Amino acid sequence: MADNSDAAELNLIATSLKRHLERRQRAGIRFLPKSEPLRETFATSKKAESAMAGAVDDLFADNSQALQAQTLEELRAAIGDCQRCKLCSGRTNIVFGVGNANAKLMFVGEGPGRDEDLKGEPFVGRAGQLLTDIITKGMGLKREDVYICNVVKCRPPENRNPEPDEVAACEPFLKKQIDLVRPAVIVGLGKFAVQTLLQSTVTISKLRGNWHSYHGIKLMPTFHPAYLLRNPADKKLVWEDIKQVMKELQDENA
Ligand code: URA
Repeated sequence: MADNSDAAELNLIATSLKRHLERRQRAGIRFLPKSEPLRETFATSKKAESAMAGAVDDLFADNSQALQAQTLEELRAAIGDCQRCKLCSGRTNIVFGVGNANAKLMFVGEGPGRDEDLKGEPFVGRAGQLLTDIITKGMGLKREDVYICNVVKCRPPENRNPEPDEVAACEPFLKKQIDLVRPAVIVGLGKFAVQTLLQSTVTISKLRGNWHSYHGIKLMPTFHPAYLLRNPADKKLVWEDIKQVMKELQDENA
């Protein structure tokens, strides 16, 4: 039976196929070839040829370069001036991620807000300041010691939740980021990031405070700093979660 990651992959393939078919349509090609190679079938039409240039090879190539990246810099370069989902139309900057490429600890949020979009860096607004305080004042680390990124790399309009097609387009890059950094611990910030990472619909209140596994990496869900700004009384719960994370990192180093 297909699991959720298969479903996300199928979704991505369907999106790639849809884009490919749209390019064909724009090129004036209305029929799929039977057995002949695509380029030969339509080689007679110069317009179709040039409009389709690269499209066949491109069909599943949108992400293949990114997924073969060996470093975060290569991954960022492969993402390029991303147009893979509709969030590209409203963004100022792609907010890829910041921090130590070999961090033991990685924070994953939902998606950039206005400040992040303008600066091109995750968690730099008010919620970001609170996250920075948790890292520096609470954990005694520097922001540069950890790695910080989001599920989606472009700001959703009016800070709405990212939509499923947007997550499907961006999630392979998050997975690759996690794979490249290989942290010992991931802290999932808030309902949206945690539910996406765990492919779960369980509430953040139930998930937080307990260890979960993200493809074998320890994952601690906790409340989002923006939620804490609205509900400061719950800071103590986040502190409980963070203490568990600190203990785990100490045990890692022992
Ligand atoms: N909220 C997030 O989830 N991510 C950011 O980068 C900023 C605010």
